[in-house]
Amino acid sequence: MEISRYLEDSSGYRGEAERVFIPSSEAEVGEIAAKAAAGKIPLTVAGAGTGLTGARVPHGGWVISLERFREIEIGRGRARCGAGALLKDLQQAAAQTRQFFGPNPTENSASVGGIVGTNAGGARSFHYGSVRRHVLALHVTRMDGSAARVERGEGVDFVFRPAHQPGTTKNSAGYCLQPGLQWVDLLAGSEGTLGITTSAELQLIPEPGAVLSGIIFFGSDVDAFEAVEAWRDIPELRQLEFMDEHSLGLLRPSYGDIPADARAALFIEQNVKSEDDGEVDAWAERLGEQGAFADESWFGFTAADRERFRVFRHTLAAMVTDTARRNGYPKFSTDFAVPLGRNRDLHEYYKQRCGELFPRQYTIFGHVGDANNHINLFPASGEEARRVEELMGEFARYVVSSGGTVAAEHGIGKSKRDLLKLMYSPDEIEAMREVKRQMDPDWLLGRGTIFEA
Ligand SMILES: Cc1cc2nc3c(=O)[nH]c(=O)nc-3n(C[C@H](O)[C@H](O)[C@H](O)COP(=O)(O)OP(=O)(O)OC[C@H]3O[C@@H](n4cnc5c(N)ncnc54)[C@H](O)[C@@H]3O)c2cc1C
Repeated sequence: MEISRYLEDSSGYRGEAERVFIPSSEAEVGEIAAKAAAGKIPLTVAGAGTGLTGARVPHGGWVISLERFREIEIGRGRARCGAGALLKDLQQAAAQTRQFFGPNPTENSASVGGIVGTNAGGARSFHYGSVRRHVLALHVTRMDGSAARVERGEGVDFVFRPAHQPGTTKNSAGYCLQPGLQWVDLLAGSEGTLGITTSAELQLIPEPGAVLSGIIFFGSDVDAFEAVEAWRDIPELRQLEFMDEHSLGLLRPSYGDIPADARAALFIEQNVKSEDDGEVDAWAERLGEQGAFADESWFGFTAADRERFRVFRHTLAAMVTDTARRNGYPKFSTDFAVPLGRNRDLHEYYKQRCGELFPRQYTIFGHVGDANNHINLFPASGEEARRVEELMGEFARYVVSSGGTVAAEHGIGKSKRDLLKLMYSPDEIEAMREVKRQMDPDWLLGRGTIFEA
């Protein structure tokens, strides 16, 4: 078996391991966990490896991959999925019953175990929230080899000390230690450090009558941000994504139909009753009011249109990764979010500081509806990489002082552990460590993820 593919994730972070196990049954998962516990061997759970924080990358010990747990059973309002099932397969199976999985993280080759593990968000989290909210039940194997099913409504059976939550609409930083904590809410977002999910029961939502989707172009980012605030409360608007002028610049060679004078774009989706319920006219009016490019924006109702726009957005993420790779330095990207009222301030701050320091070496795009745009910086020398790292720290401090989060949807993993300490007090981090010790006393599972070992 090719072990090397389990030693990295999409962040480029690399590690090492002695063995990789690919079990086929829950009983085998239990045996592997119990053996690792008996031998005090660290055990890292691997999903599909699309993570951006090194969370699934082992530092020695064993890796357990759930990739053979691929079954998907669709019911009314829920799906039971093996942890290794891919998000795109879930979406496809759900679509056959005219249902869908709400949050829809952008990278659809992620696994169910991974999106639950990171409490992933996505383009539609603006309307539906992050993955955690959609978890109905989990089948989990603990480090002692025992297996359990926990379902929504079931509170944890131990005493813990709460930690504050940021004033954002999304958060994937550390354990969600809120009063009244339920098992599913603790495990979702625990990044493979508390248990091994073998299957998850996820909520499905009925497809609306139709979906209107569009890429709307603007002459400036200021106009686009004004539109975000004006449109945020449109009924059934389920997606509100942003791209800045540098993002459009990356896409232009592949998309000749991006208007020449566009400097920003919003990608929207709205649930509507039918194609002719008047929403097209309403959007024409809205575009006029916000000074958007009415004639050159793209709209569509079909699944093919939605897919075309999704690919447009996803191509951007892939191009950002390629640009960083070509430069030969790591991709520096943020997953920060601030309370909605600070959305514009953060954007202006990003632009001002990047304009001063790296004027043509960055892009800003992402989940503007959740005040969770990602900034990506492309250093071209070792010295620039060092300065970019400093700038990232400065951005993180700004975000935390604005009541935000250092990890809105990707988790902390191994590469962002220092940021956790900016966001939570030492006492709150100790409260999280106490939970970890309760469930994994020898600190074997996901060692080095979220906390130093
Ligand atoms: C181009 C691109 C776009 C992306 N867009 C988004 C986006 O819009 N929103 C978003 O949230 N993320 C996004 N991501 C990040 C990534 O897709 C998510 O973090 C995803 O949730 C990771 O899933 P995975 O299966 O690849 O997990 P991995 O990377 O393999 O693992 C992630 C974490 O989950 C844990 N884990 C995996 N399986 C299990 C299990 N069975 N039991 C317990 N723990 C487990 C791992 O131990 C690890 O801590 C993007 C990534 C890329 C490359």
